[in-house]
Order: sequence, then structure tokens, then C-alpha cells
Amino acid sequence: MRHIAIIGSGPAGYYTAEAALKQWGDGVRIDMIDRLPVPYGLIRTGVAPDHQSIKAVARRYEGVALSEQVRFLGNVTVGQDVRMGELTRLYDAVVLATGAPHDRPLAIPGEGLGNVFGSAQFVGWYNGHPQFAALDPDLSGGTAVVIGMGNVALDVARILAKSRAEFAGSDIVAHALDALGQSRIRRIVVIGRRGPHQIMMTPKELGELSHLERAAPRVDPADLPEPGEDALLEPGLRKSVTHLRGFAAIPESHYADLPIEIEFDFFAAPKALIGNGKVEEIELERTVVEGGRAVGTGETWRLPASLVVACIGYQTSPIPEVPFDERAGRFANDEGRILPGLYCVGWARRGPSGTIGTNRPDGFSVIERIVEDLAPGPSGRAGGAGFDELARARGLHITGFDDWQKIDQAETTRARADAPREKFVDINDMLAATREN
Ligand code: NAP
Repeated sequence: MRHIAIIGSGPAGYYTAEAALKQWGDGVRIDMIDRLPVPYGLIRTGVAPDHQSIKAVARRYEGVALSEQVRFLGNVTVGQDVRMGELTRLYDAVVLATGAPHDRPLAIPGEGLGNVFGSAQFVGWYNGHPQFAALDPDLSGGTAVVIGMGNVALDVARILAKSRAEFAGSDIVAHALDALGQSRIRRIVVIGRRGPHQIMMTPKELGELSHLERAAPRVDPADLPEPGEDALLEPGLRKSVTHLRGFAAIPESHYADLPIEIEFDFFAAPKALIGNGKVEEIELERTVVEGGRAVGTGETWRLPASLVVACIGYQTSPIPEVPFDERAGRFANDEGRILPGLYCVGWARRGPSGTIGTNRPDGFSVIERIVEDLAPGPSGRAGGAGFDELARARGLHITGFDDWQKIDQAETTRARADAPREKFVDINDMLAATREN
């Protein structure tokens, strides 16, 4: 019997479990440990609430979770409730699939001002992540500045722009829906330190900005390169740039009919945030792109900014006893290998890039590494039975997949009429739901 522990129950964790089941079938026992009492990681708390079709992938993970060989062990923080060394002694292999849940710092003056958030915080707020549910951003000012030209920046800009009716069918949490309903933000400025040819936004997501009920995107035609230069771009990026060209051609009269604008501000590097306790302005420096890099020109200007959300990428949280690459913001690893018996996968291995599906080959490849490394024959490790003993001795309150099913049921039952669920945003409420029925 092989005993595998996977830390983190998001996409990378579930694809790794799927790969382990394919590899060993009945000859494996898999424990998936998560710090939250509920599974699915980024699917639940990262993917935008109005992108329900992307969240549907959780059904595939449920198939894996319900396999007899797989257990979900929620509400357990590795490095706090159990030590990494304890896990590596109990299991043949431990795979860190902990993602990249922390914001990369902007590292500019004024970052600590009020109403300045990283996207992990802001997205966590509207998605009901227990860590960020109480964020309480102030949406009473006129101009939101969203830093970054990736899909997360698009998510944040779109969520800020949508009307209440446009959230029908989404699982945005009630506190965010109410706050957004009261929002006075009318100008959303998306800041890119490079140009239209260097955006990270994908075409489908960018195209959604054309269909908003009360907002329209605005691109300054002067920022766009000569159309002929688009031919050199890879097809996906070329499609995205075509959307930008479409935005640049929107007639001025269209904006007069709509209360909200989403402006794209290219060649603008954030230099400082200015305000008295709370952010009021952002200072930007004009850039030129040289050899693919943004180079400052020394020309600076200021924009009003009553809310700032930096969507500039994420980093993994270090875990005691696990080597960490500070510069890259992820575990130090060689093709997923960290130390003997300890591996990483997904964003914890390669950093925060790619789609959810990118994690599937990652999961399969880490299992291949484990197969290469394992000595033949039974290892005699205690696996899950050893974990249970440890958990009992420490009095850990662990949630199983059946507990998640109760939470899921309770969230579905208390949903608004037009929503698939109303998430619990407090861990105690999640645990209380497991005690009902
Ligand atoms: P991303 O795609 O890496 O974009 C980060 C953006 O931040 C880039 O435009 C980058 O500019 C900019 N940036 C980084 N540091 C900066 C700084 N110091 N100052 C100003 N700008 C800075 O990251 P993401 O948007 O967080 O997305 C993470 C991953 O999740 C991506 O793979 C994304 O596609 C995926 N995702 C997908 C979806 C979807 O499919 N619907 C939704 C959300 C996220 P430079 O390029 O100049 O560095």
C-alpha cells in the first residue's frame, strides 16, 4: 500500500489525487489536507463568482473525493496543527498543493494606506474567503484604480462595474453584493506598466467588458501599435489586442449613455500612493517598452484613486521546515521535488500562471516523479491511521467530505432566489452547519 498526503484541495491537489488513483488504483490511500473546513481552494474562493461555468469543474473533483481511497481532512493547518516532519514520517510522499494565496507586494511608498488592497484580499472579500470576508472596502469614492493587466485585474474591474441584476446566477456573497450595490465608483482605471502588446488578459475574459449593462471600456487609440504589428503576436494575444482595438473604436456618444467607464491606461508604472490615512491619489510614471521591459521616462503624473486594488500576482505561503525560494515566492524545488518524500505541484511549484487545466499535467507529472523515487515494496509507513492517532491526541476538529456535503447543502438551502449558494464566510458557521442534521 502507498500512503500519499496532499496538502491543499484546490485544482492542483485534486488533479494530483486523480493521477495517484490512476497510478496505483486500490493500492493507494490518499489524505487531502486543507486549512479550511471546505474543499476546492481557488475554485471556491478565487474564480470569479460570475464565472459559474468554470466552477463546474468541482464536480469532477467530487468524483475523485468520493473514491474509497481518498479522504478529505479539512480544518487542519500544516505547520501549526501538524508539523511537516510528522507528515513526511507518516506518508510515503507528501505533495504540497497549497497554491499561491498571498499578494505580491507593490513595494512603492503609500502601500500601507487605507483602502489599498492586493487582489488576494479583494477577491477573497467578494468570494467570502474567511480570512478576507471582513475587509470592508470603502466604495464611496469615485475612482477605483486596478493595477495590472492580467485576468485577475479584469475580474476585479468587471465585478466593480456590474449592476446587482448582472450578479444573478452568481455566488457572490451577500456582504459584497450589498456593498457593491451602494458603490459610487464611476471610473475604473486599469493600469499597465507596459503596452497593449504585453497584456496578460485572455480574449474571452476581455470580450466580457463589451457586454456590461452600465459600463463600457475605453482605450486611447494613440496607445495602440500599428495594426500590422499584431500579425507577429501569438493567436490568443492577437485576439485580445483585437478586443482592445474594438474598445478604442467605441464612439464617444456611447459613453454618454452609461454611468461607468473602464479605462485602460498603458505605459504607466505605479510610483507612489498618496493620501492622508486613506488613499486619495496614485502617482504614475510614463514608460516606454524596450526589449520587452518597461523603462521609466521620468515623466510623472497623478490620478485620483479612492480605492486601489493591486492585481500583480501572488506568492506561496512558506511552511516551517520547507525550503522556500524567496525571490520566486514559491517552494524551492526541482521539477516538483523539494526534499526526499516531499514534493510540490501547481502554483506552489511553478508560480501563479496558467489556467485551471494547466494543473492537470502538473499533477500527473509529480506522481511520475514519486513513482521514480519510491523504493519498491511496502514502506510500512502508518499513513492515515498514524495521522488519525496524532489528530486524536491533539484534539483536532477535522472535517471530512461528508461534513463538506452538509455545509454544501446548508449553503444551497440558504441561497438567494437567483444564486446557487450563499457561502458561509466564518469558519465557526461552517463547523456549526456540520453539526446540523
Ligand atoms: P498575471 O496574468 O501574471 O498578470 C499580472 C499583471 O500584473 C501583469 O500585467 C504584470 O505586468 C503586472 N504587474 C506585475 N508586477 C507589477 C508591478 N510591480 N507594477 C505594475 N504592474 C505589475 O497575474 P494574474 O492576473 O494575477 O493571474 C494569475 C493567473 O490566473 C494567470 O495565469 C491568469 O490567466 C489566471 N486567471 C485566469 C482567469 C480566467 O481564466 N478567467 C481568471 C483569473 C486569473 P508585466 O507583464 O509588465 O509584469
